[in-house]
Amino acid sequence: MAERNIVIIGAGVAGLTTALLLSKIPGYSITVAAKHMPGDYDIEYASPWAGANYMPVSSRGTEAAEWDKETWKVFHELALNHPESGIHLQGKSPYILAEDLLKNSSDNPTDCEIRNRSNDVGSATADWFSELLSSAPWFKDVVPNFRTLSKNELGPGIDSAINFTSVCINTALYLPWLVSKCLENKVSFKRAVFNHISEAYSLDPSRKVDLVVNCTGLMASKLGGVEDHTVVPARGQIVVVRNEAGKMINLSGTDDGDDEACYIMARAAGGGTVIGGSYQKGNWESQPDPNLAIRIMKRAVQAYPELTGGKGIEALDVIRHAVGLRPVREGGTRIEKEQMGSLWIVHNYGAGGAGYQSSYGCAEAAVKLVRKALEVQTKL
Ligand code: FAD
Repeated sequence: MAERNIVIIGAGVAGLTTALLLSKIPGYSITVAAKHMPGDYDIEYASPWAGANYMPVSSRGTEAAEWDKETWKVFHELALNHPESGIHLQGKSPYILAEDLLKNSSDNPTDCEIRNRSNDVGSATADWFSELLSSAPWFKDVVPNFRTLSKNELGPGIDSAINFTSVCINTALYLPWLVSKCLENKVSFKRAVFNHISEAYSLDPSRKVDLVVNCTGLMASKLGGVEDHTVVPARGQIVVVRNEAGKMINLSGTDDGDDEACYIMARAAGGGTVIGGSYQKGNWESQPDPNLAIRIMKRAVQAYPELTGGKGIEALDVIRHAVGLRPVREGGTRIEKEQMGSLWIVHNYGAGGAGYQSSYGCAEAAVKLVRKALEVQTKL
């Protein structure tokens, strides 16, 4: 049978993961076409700004929880066996052996700690984290070393907390690694800006395109033919510092506003420590707010004084202040196939703050739809 030509619009984590999975299927020729590629930093391109870690916010029993579950298996394997991907298990020392990190013990240094304050109930951040804040979230049997902290382990103002082993992804390494894996499988990459999704069908006038995969993230709200106005930004401001964090910490909320957050995570392979943050829905502002930056740094040092050896925020060694926009979609990530006249489209966009932790599950679901759509076309 003739090769089937597929164009993927978007080179964020959604587009690259979908390209990688599709490139493993014989008979498909894949082109990734995008305005922004790994190496670029732009407000329309969420993927480089993410922490990124694995802390499922999907609800029990949903498709999204299944996507997250599938993704953990891959991330865990990459962290254990492929350090070149830029993914590592979060622990006190980068030198701890992977096998030791997985031993079940209460003094295990593999800390991803979610701290809950009862007065945050109902805030935007606590709503976003509601599954994470449950004492028995669905993922407790998925991630290693899950446990609930005892009362005497809780710091001041904290009402409950859970702890488990997780990963942190250095996105500056992971996105190019995905590109390399795609190139190994003969995926082509091309810069392109589309005003309308149908333009992807004439990307290369010498080849008929059989199907387009739409991985445009937040910009699906503006792309002609899609214009999904249920996709909105949730603005995340972060500070990347050279100080080392021995654990990953997340709080259910802050005293500084409903849409502000407090989290700390250490990126793999010298990627620095990311401290955040905010979750400002509907806010497109690309520039860091200096006042918010101070609040982010104060909260991080208060939550984890070890970050600066007890010396306060002046001892934070800042690499950069940054802002990214999470592509939040009402109703969750859109994984659907659509026929637009004679054109076939599969959508994979709108993952909000979970684009990494759901990436393999979402891409697998999109791949299934691509296969189905191409089968239908063959029968016509
Ligand atoms: P994007 O990365 O935005 O990529 C979109 C692609 O489409 C780009 O290549 C763009 O150029 C292209 N494109 C768009 N429109 C067009 C067009 N018209 N023509 C051509 N190309 C086009 N997720 C996690 O799982 N864990 C985390 O810890 C985490 N932390 C985060 C922290 C912050 C501060 C932020 C901002 C996000 C965080 N996220 C996290 C969320 C994650 O970053 C996003 O869900 C994910 O990056 C979305 O990826 P994407 O590929 O869908 O979109």
